[in-house]
Amino acid sequence: MTTRTLIGTTQQFTIGKIVCLARNYAEHARELGNETPAAPVLFMKPASSVIGDGDTVCIPSFSQECHYEVELAVLIGQQCRTVPAERALEYVAGYGVAIDMTLRDVQSQLKAKGLPWEIAKGFDTACPLSDFVPASQVADPHALNLKLAVNGGGRQDGSSSDMIHRIPQIVAHISAIFTLEPGDVILTGTPAGVGQVSAGDVMTAEISTVGRLTISVA
Ligand code: ZN
Repeated sequence: MTTRTLIGTTQQFTIGKIVCLARNYAEHARELGNETPAAPVLFMKPASSVIGDGDTVCIPSFSQECHYEVELAVLIGQQCRTVPAERALEYVAGYGVAIDMTLRDVQSQLKAKGLPWEIAKGFDTACPLSDFVPASQVADPHALNLKLAVNGGGRQDGSSSDMIHRIPQIVAHISAIFTLEPGDVILTGTPAGVGQVSAGDVMTAEISTVGRLTISVA
């Protein structure tokens, strides 16, 4: 079992399902040549893909192109099902930093065939994830700076203000499909600037107020 703490509290959460949004920042959708969707595009990562600060992403031998995507992670604190957007934030326990590691070559092949993306998104080590800052300490989750550097060089520098679908709408939408439970995590999409990492690289991901992750690549 993988657990994460709510920083400054005694609360521990066992990580459950990880529901992720694709194309939630217009500039990133454009850089991959995708249309901006009307409804959120969803996929999931298994809890077994989670690693922590200081850990190593292992690129599987069947991929030659592994990409980083820094994302704001939302931790669900209470069970919710079909929650209205106006009440959705009551179910959010905290916010964290995630990197949605993606085997872009594998994903492109799957997309071309109309097949699901799990192999490209859910492999072991595909979800570096920090501990979580209590939601009460994040005044506005839509005013956070998201940054990712590789070997010290800046690659992504975006703002959660540029999300197409916002957190209350995201929680409302997802909870109408999948019951959300304590320890479930939502990854809210990545801003522009995604790119490749290779064995030997070190990624640092940082979200203002929320935290940072340092992750090696092998
Ligand atoms: Zn992503």
